[in-house]
Amino acid sequence: MPGTQLARARAGEVTPAMKRVADRENREPEFVREQVAEGQAVIPANHGHDALDPMIIGREFATKVNANIGNSETTSDLAGELEKLHAAVHYGADTVMDLSTGSNLDEIREANVAHSPVPVGTVPIYEAVTQVDDVADLTPELLLDVIEKQAEQGVDYQTIHAGVLAEHLPLTDGRKTGIVSRGGSILAQWMEENGEQNPLYTHFEDICEIFAEHDVTFSLGDGLRPGSLADASDDAQFAELDTLGELTRVAWDHDVQVMVEGPGHVPMDEVADNVERQQEVCDGAPFYLLGPLVTDVAPGYDHITSAIGATEAARAGAAMLCYVTPKEHLGLPEAEDVRDGLAAYRIAAHAGDVAAGKPGARDWDDALSEARYQFDWRRQFDLALDPERARDFHDQTLPGDNYKEARFCSMCGVEFCSMRIDQDARDADGEMEAIDDETDLSESAAAEVNLPPTGSHDTSDVPDLPEGVEPVHGDEADGESATGDD
Ligand code: SF4
Repeated sequence: MPGTQLARARAGEVTPAMKRVADRENREPEFVREQVAEGQAVIPANHGHDALDPMIIGREFATKVNANIGNSETTSDLAGELEKLHAAVHYGADTVMDLSTGSNLDEIREANVAHSPVPVGTVPIYEAVTQVDDVADLTPELLLDVIEKQAEQGVDYQTIHAGVLAEHLPLTDGRKTGIVSRGGSILAQWMEENGEQNPLYTHFEDICEIFAEHDVTFSLGDGLRPGSLADASDDAQFAELDTLGELTRVAWDHDVQVMVEGPGHVPMDEVADNVERQQEVCDGAPFYLLGPLVTDVAPGYDHITSAIGATEAARAGAAMLCYVTPKEHLGLPEAEDVRDGLAAYRIAAHAGDVAAGKPGARDWDDALSEARYQFDWRRQFDLALDPERARDFHDQTLPGDNYKEARFCSMCGVEFCSMRIDQDARDADGEMEAIDDETDLSESAAAEVNLPPTGSHDTSDVPDLPEGVEPVHGDEADGESATGDD
């Protein structure tokens, strides 16, 4: 097998994956290679993931969005899982995490990898726990076996909660919401009952060897992330972050790619500090945030509370954002929740990129604004982040084809359309000219990442569903808790 993308970048090779990424982001292949070689970006691309269209995660590139999919003990079969994958990619997920904890785990994981054009991530401790009667019965050997099997199945990145150490656990005493990460709580229980150090920490170099062989990327889990504003930025969170910095360097010594996960629940004024601290402690390894929610008071709207924090995180240098749906803290998301969560997060990622001045990010906004001012409704729909919703909302009141050239919509009405009035005023005195040029997105510095769905695939690239699998239209499509505090 060839080496990892990191090993090959360090050796000076521009791999086919780096070239593809450079095309997608309209960057120089050599720049991509340098970013990967320095650990500042990752290309999660397991050697066994044949369906993958390579993408890159790093603060110098368009901010990416992950969607969680996967079954639970009570829901979903293989066809249902493939429907969720299809929906997530269709609505613009840049990666998906299969967080299945129910039955048929191998079959579902292998099918997801076989069909997914985007990287697939997992949390292997979830599967390991299903194989024992009691958490305390987990062994290092079982954990390594599960990790290796999932690597062999083609998983591109795995969340490994190796930074939760026994000495960190007392630091969570007195928290308002304790340990809210599933992986973190499982490992804390194991350490308490066995009186030993976290086996993912003590066997970290064994995991590195497995990952190096298959080119699996670490997503170093933040098992002690805060589950409430009250617990944000506390000693437990930052003690674990220091360990994640240490583990980042160990993984790099093994030529293994690394990104680092972050919180969770963080007040708005602390979000940028959290990003900057991670970048410093982890030597610039890509930061992958789970939200963060900037207030705890809006269950039912946590795709919004967290997208606000995610926007600030993206502006400050986060590389990937894990979406949150409106059902967070309340129940399993359905298809429409997945759509709303992805839209909220793609808005956050793009708004953060615009604010950060990423090359070409604003071109998309400018192109849509030009179409809007020209009353080019079809182009406005095509450029919209969710073209189907934009068209549907417009056509609810003005469905006729003739309204696709109309110089108004039903919001202000024909008499009060300010853009029409403005244009007429400008034509009358001859001094103010209407915009008549169009931003050419194909020439934009952000190229493909400027086209909806953001940073990912045009709808036409989404693989056809296997025979017998119907597309999702309102059926259950449960994702998983991003903030983990449920
Ligand atoms: S009617 Fe109002 S909302 Fe609609 S196009 Fe004109 S200015 Fe915009």
